[in-house]
Amino acid sequence: NSSLTKMLIVFTISGGGLVAYSESKLDNGMNAITSTEVDGKKKRVVVLGTGWAGTSFLKNLKNSSYDVQVISPRNYFAFTPLLPSVTCGTVEPRSIVEPIRNIVRKKSVYVRYWEAECFKIDADNKKVYCRSNLTTNLDGEEEFVVEYDYLVIAIGARANTFNIPGVAENCHFLKEIEDAQRIRRTVIDCFEKASLPNLTDEERKKILHFVVVGGGPAGVEFAAELHDYVNEDLVRLYPKAKDLVKITLLEATDHILNTFDKRITAFAEEKFQRDGIDVKTGAMVVKVSGKEISTKEVKNGGNVSSMPYGMAVWSTGIGTRPVIMDFMKQIGQANRRALATDEWLRVEGRDSIYALGDCATINQRKVMEDICSIFRKADKDNSGTLTVKEFREVLDDICERYPQVGLYLKNKQMSSLVDLLKESKGDTVKESVEVNLEEFTLALSKVDSQMKNLPATAQVAAQQGSYLADCFNRMEECEKNPEGFLHNNEQALWIVAQPPEYKHFGQFAPLGGEQTAAQLPGDWVSIGHSTQWLWYSVYASKLVSWRTRALVISDWGRRFIFGRDSSGI
Ligand code: FAD
Repeated sequence: NSSLTKMLIVFTISGGGLVAYSESKLDNGMNAITSTEVDGKKKRVVVLGTGWAGTSFLKNLKNSSYDVQVISPRNYFAFTPLLPSVTCGTVEPRSIVEPIRNIVRKKSVYVRYWEAECFKIDADNKKVYCRSNLTTNLDGEEEFVVEYDYLVIAIGARANTFNIPGVAENCHFLKEIEDAQRIRRTVIDCFEKASLPNLTDEERKKILHFVVVGGGPAGVEFAAELHDYVNEDLVRLYPKAKDLVKITLLEATDHILNTFDKRITAFAEEKFQRDGIDVKTGAMVVKVSGKEISTKEVKNGGNVSSMPYGMAVWSTGIGTRPVIMDFMKQIGQANRRALATDEWLRVEGRDSIYALGDCATINQRKVMEDICSIFRKADKDNSGTLTVKEFREVLDDICERYPQVGLYLKNKQMSSLVDLLKESKGDTVKESVEVNLEEFTLALSKVDSQMKNLPATAQVAAQQGSYLADCFNRMEECEKNPEGFLHNNEQALWIVAQPPEYKHFGQFAPLGGEQTAAQLPGDWVSIGHSTQWLWYSVYASKLVSWRTRALVISDWGRRFIFGRDSSGI
């Protein structure tokens, strides 16, 4: 390449293959990082993100025939379910993070890590543009380009402000370790500020008014943690604050924890009421200023009112990162919340790009179209009707290709498929077909919502990461022998696996006072102190390393014996 002005070649032995890595300079002055295949085998895999999805992919990738580069502004993995505990000093930040270099160090796969964020994906030229958040590199340059053969996008999502005025400027978010540390500092600052002389009680009350916006699991857990922190630890040090502190939880819908079983919602609302946490449901935040939060009643004529506050935490769901928005525009997916992939996690229309975790969503429409086309293929006489026997075969086919859908469709009548076909072809369904339209339509609508709302959770992200790693581990084997694979189309001969089937292991909602609610598979609900111990055990077991496990357990022990730290550091 004539545009190269500098070249640094580093030879390294990796998985038995010799690879030459080169750093070169492009015409526009940006550094380009490429790897040249010496033995012709190494495929370049670039992973964006070191969160749940990216880390799970890296941990499970075992095939040494890849040249892997990881790009993320965070050089560690953070165990997000314990972030609310960090806000109040129950657990220390260091205890829930593991350096990414530590995680990939022991692997047979050679992995390089760049601390930078990707700001542009150029899918046509298979390059990603990155910017380092460190300003000390030798040339003083912070931008570089990385080329890939396969790109794994796992950059998660950002907090969603819904463009409500003042939210970004005045509220705290709870997505990253730094957010949790800032919250911890601000809580203590509020208590110190309210302790200063020459303030009226009214002013102290304003300063000690903590508002949590969003009644989802994270918002509820934070409100509960804060309540315990204040009542178990801080009031002992700030006795005058006891009667002045107030915690308000704002939720726009009718109930908090509305993705949980009704019994859990009711228990949580009653418990919060008993604890003195003011839960305001049907209250939508419309504006946040430096001193006040304005809410609009969703019902009752939409009255707008304002409340003064000392600290506000915004926890209302997730939005799209700018680099993903830009990429979606590039590939004709504008106006979506997340990158649409097919059920094999391939970004639609881009074979060598995969997206997983919070930044991606499986395209529901495509799956449904596919189901219709399976049906149409079976309808050989093009009559718009299938015999019961044919219909069962179609159903089996669907169950095999779409296990998630199969979960719901098994044992159901096939009538709603006829319904779908009728809609798409305008045909009349023959009376001879056994139908139970109501039951089947209901089943499909459940499939629809289940697939569309595959929750944005660590569970989903981690399972997708390990599924994709498994596909990559078997890629060579499949390329050599493409026959006989389950999914075998022109673009993806290598895919041997079934599409990932999400296994839901349940969800927890810690409610404070050593009580937790759990909704486990089979809609089994458990609430109370014993569930709190289940929560301790599950989270301790899920931590990423023995080091973090030991640190978190010792933090819990320290909290039991000495209480939480109140220095805010
Ligand atoms: P993330 O884990 O957010 O990782 C994204 C990664 O991408 C990060 O490393 C980030 O630094 C990096 N990145 C960002 N931008 C760029 C860029 N431009 N270029 C390169 N890299 C980039 N889920 C559960 O299942 N159970 C729980 O109990 C639970 N509790 C939660 C509590 C809180 C407070 C929060 C905030 C979330 C919780 N979640 C929980 C949800 C869970 O954390 C997310 O669903 C999960 O983190 C998504 O994983 P991900 O890999 O898609 O994204």
